[in-house]
Amino acid sequence: MAQDLPSYLERVRTERPDEFVTVSREMDPGHEVTAAVVKIEKEARRRPVLLFENVRGSDYPVLTNLHASRSRLAMAMNAPPREMLQKYLKAMEEPVAPREVNTGPCKDVVLKGADIDLSRLPQLEHHQGDGGAYITAAISFAKDPNSDMWNCAYNRLMITGRDTTSIHLTLGKHLWEYYQVAESRGEALPVAFAIGVHPAIALGCLAIGSIDEDERGIMGGLLDEPLELVRCETSDVLVPAQAEMIVEAEILPRARIAEGPFGEFTGYSLGARDREVVQVKAVTHREGAMFHDITVGHLDHMLLSTIPMEANLYRAVRAMIPSVRVVRVPSPFTCFVSIEQRLEGQAKNAMMAVLGADLYMKRVVVVDHDIDVFDEREVNWAIATRCQPDRDIVVISGARGSDLDPSTAGNDGFTAKWGVDATAKPSLDAFTPRHSFPSEVWDGIDVEALLP
Ligand code: MN
Repeated sequence: MAQDLPSYLERVRTERPDEFVTVSREMDPGHEVTAAVVKIEKEARRRPVLLFENVRGSDYPVLTNLHASRSRLAMAMNAPPREMLQKYLKAMEEPVAPREVNTGPCKDVVLKGADIDLSRLPQLEHHQGDGGAYITAAISFAKDPNSDMWNCAYNRLMITGRDTTSIHLTLGKHLWEYYQVAESRGEALPVAFAIGVHPAIALGCLAIGSIDEDERGIMGGLLDEPLELVRCETSDVLVPAQAEMIVEAEILPRARIAEGPFGEFTGYSLGARDREVVQVKAVTHREGAMFHDITVGHLDHMLLSTIPMEANLYRAVRAMIPSVRVVRVPSPFTCFVSIEQRLEGQAKNAMMAVLGADLYMKRVVVVDHDIDVFDEREVNWAIATRCQPDRDIVVISGARGSDLDPSTAGNDGFTAKWGVDATAKPSLDAFTPRHSFPSEVWDGIDVEALLP
């Protein structure tokens, strides 16, 4: 399968012409691009891939809203929408190792030294009050300073100068851990950011797993072929050869700079905090490269991140409860799980599996298999009618969660977590029956004959 972004866009144009819109009129990078995406989603009820050819102040066209459709993401994984979970689980279980190549389109243009100028990129401000222009579609590639393991992650970058940005390293996650090691030695951490990749690479990057799992293998599993990597110009970091753009850099030791405020996936704009500093060493890109932006906190962002999260959580719950049915992440920090509970206590085990398997998970609701977790009214009904709060709610104090959760003290992610066991006790079979109709009556009713 082609692993470059232009080939994927060509498939969208050919197979779903309504889902690719090119805008040629000039757009203002100060909020207009992101506001247009959200207004098209809310008012026109459409979620096309959008290519803004003319964004004031930059020669690079802006590609956005790429991920705002589940079926487009399924297409990127070469799977029908209902088989996305299985495809993702297979990529986690049978990763495909990457392959190094000599060169690639990401090297068409090489800018180093005085030629680096981040102000030539589209200076996109996403939400009102943001601290500056952000690069939101940057995928970091870095090597563990202690081993041959690699890590990939999305990290938001705020442009702070011609060749500097700040970076948000999620506290407690893998790139943060690499950086702790480098900084404790007084060393910079070499890193490179790919901006503008095939959506299968983006989905693989967001895999949640152990620090010993290589996201690049999951990318290969989703692409059905090894991810092609090429060496950076200024370091030994390996990056996707077919990316639109690569920013080669280091994260400096013992340097911090104010970052934010920034409107995040939580729906909140969190204030400025001191963050690590990125020193850019080179920018390389495809001839005629698009600048990829993710509209943070809206469907473009949320659909992309929940598919990998749900796959990991499904895997974790299934390790404890073989009869798990569905795992869904409907909103930030939240997980709904439906299980066919064969033994008393399995709901609690499901709860512990979820809260233990994902840093961000803070609230989990476990229901029986007769509840549709995609219908929030049914989940609420189960909580209301099958749950005794003094018996069925578990609270865990003093755990580690998201540093973007505005309800945690000091906004640092030191948080309580909770689980709601909304399964029927002692079992669904033994519980008060749901009301119903005799099947011969139900089947005998001809709705069309009754209605005028
Ligand atoms: Mn990792």
